[in-house]
Amino acid sequence: MQKDIATPIRTQEILKKYGFSFKKSLGQNFIIDPNILRNIVGHADITKDSAAIEIGPGIGALTEHLARAAGKVVAFEIDQRLLPVLEDTLSPYDNVKIIHSDILEANVKQILEEKLTDYKDVMIVANLPYYVTTPILLKLLMDRLPIRGMVVMMQKEVADRITAVPGTKAYGSLSIAIQYYMKAEVAMVVPRAVFMPQPNVESAVIKLTRHETPPVHVIDEDFLFQVSRGSFVQRRKTIINNLQSSLPNGKEKKEIIIQSLEKVNINPTRRGETLSIEEFGRLADELYPYFH
Ligand code: SAM
Repeated sequence: MQKDIATPIRTQEILKKYGFSFKKSLGQNFIIDPNILRNIVGHADITKDSAAIEIGPGIGALTEHLARAAGKVVAFEIDQRLLPVLEDTLSPYDNVKIIHSDILEANVKQILEEKLTDYKDVMIVANLPYYVTTPILLKLLMDRLPIRGMVVMMQKEVADRITAVPGTKAYGSLSIAIQYYMKAEVAMVVPRAVFMPQPNVESAVIKLTRHETPPVHVIDEDFLFQVSRGSFVQRRKTIINNLQSSLPNGKEKKEIIIQSLEKVNINPTRRGETLSIEEFGRLADELYPYFH
């Protein structure tokens, strides 16, 4: 087997060979510890019957571990300078396709439908660029990709918000947006020393698993997210105060909002952070006819 790309020595050699300089603006912090990569791929439960989608392969450190475990890997990289590097480092693997694209602009669904239908399941596995973690996750979820789940590294603070439960400080509209689609858990906390260069925030890997059935059925998902976002505008305020200032014409519709809250057994003086997804779902459906 090839020597791992992700050892500090090999990474240095590759960077030197190509005169590569890190772009902080692209969130370039490469992993230099093969054990972490083995762990990440292990959490994804991938076999040769699976396909993997990676965002930001960098110099291919995680990509090669995915290539060894999966039947096929498709990786999206925004930085053109990395294309010749990847062609070189990943040359031993014939099951990797690199796509030069900003993941936020890419039609991932089309690629899944055209290239990955032969596989039993698809996992998204990535060490995400931290400057754009949330938009990437929300885009991939909103695209409703037919994936089994994701195993993704991000800044720990965002991982904590995504996996938070009601009644905690970290719980908010991001927790709801993600947990509506996926079961979310922190798989591991990752020390800074495994990156080159070291990021100035802590990191964690989260595992997202698609729900067999969503935790709540709603009339309109976008409205559910509008209501949940609107309930956290000012965390210390009650849900009635937040909703009347965040929903369209909320002030005039204050009585309707109060009645709707009471109808679904939510005390209007509670704070958004105490509501479960199921409660937000019931509330959104109750409010829906008055805001459409
Ligand atoms: N996977 C590599 C590793 O673990 O060592 C690199 C991870 S590094 C944290 C993030 C990678 O994402 C970089 O290669 C960067 O160029 C790439 N990237 C940044 N923004 C991107 C975007 N919008 N779309 C696709 N790739 C992006």
